[in-house]
Amino acid sequence: MAYLGNPAYTMAVLEKHGFHFQKKYGQNFLIDTHILEKIIDAAEITKDDFVLEIGPGIGTMTQYLCEAAREVVAVEIDTNLLPVLDDTLKEYDNVTVLNEDILKVDIASLAGEKNSGKEYNNGRPIKVVANLPYYITTPIIMGLFESHVPLASITIMVQKEVADRMQVGPGTKDYGALSLAVQYFAKPEVVCVVPPTCFVPQPKVASSVIRLTCHEKPPVEITDEGFLFRVIRASFNQRRKTLANGLNNAPTIPVAKEDIIATIEELGYPASVRGETLSLEEFARLSEALKKKVH
Ligand code: SAM
Repeated sequence: MAYLGNPAYTMAVLEKHGFHFQKKYGQNFLIDTHILEKIIDAAEITKDDFVLEIGPGIGTMTQYLCEAAREVVAVEIDTNLLPVLDDTLKEYDNVTVLNEDILKVDIASLAGEKNSGKEYNNGRPIKVVANLPYYITTPIIMGLFESHVPLASITIMVQKEVADRMQVGPGTKDYGALSLAVQYFAKPEVVCVVPPTCFVPQPKVASSVIRLTCHEKPPVEITDEGFLFRVIRASFNQRRKTLANGLNNAPTIPVAKEDIIATIEELGYPASVRGETLSLEEFARLSEALKKKVH
């Protein structure tokens, strides 16, 4: 197999196809074979697995995925990369490249959840692996979780700062809506930190590979997941404000101010409590109590 992970080969492929990087698509291609191997190892892919790759680029990681998995679907937005991928993936018959925007594609239909005629994995959990375009990291992750497609794990390269935010708990400066959302759906573990020199062109920031092992069922019981996330978002929208003010200023939480304050106090917090001190369990309790006061 001609691994594309090494810099010389990557440059040769780019030159052969006269490829020009598009900044707007967050194109930073991996050129370090050790990091590629680490990603594949961390994702624990076997020949039974169906893997969704987001943004294959020139197919560097896709090759590794094709070798390891049963089937790979790679979603790439940049039409200019299609002839490159045709060339670099020509040895593999277990890969499908879709020229789509991952934020618009119906993930459930890819995974065979809906009767779309593309029964890729018959509703069995899939693995997602990606070196993500950093400009849309959060919407991609939330889109995957909220699709409710059965997911085993999501192993991704993200900006280091974003990986840090995903795994911290209450009371730290990085703690916020992303930490809570990720931890509601999965267990996050940083695999390694990756310096800019491992990419072409080099990004301005350090990166991390993080594995999100998806929970079979969320760690907290909740009757209305959408409402929980609205409460969480409202609580962090205005970080310097109290929890009560954040919730009261959010049009998505139709609860009277006096009911918000009463609920906070009934749960045993002072009226001046801030959202960043509450754990996921505490947000779940708050959300259930507020739901009963919706007017
Ligand atoms: N996987 C390759 C690698 O590791 O070298 C490329 C990673 S690069 C950071 C991100 C890739 O995502 C690019 O190929 C880019 O064109 C693609 N991309 C950007 N936005 C996208 C979107 N909305 N949907 C699908 N792919 C997208």
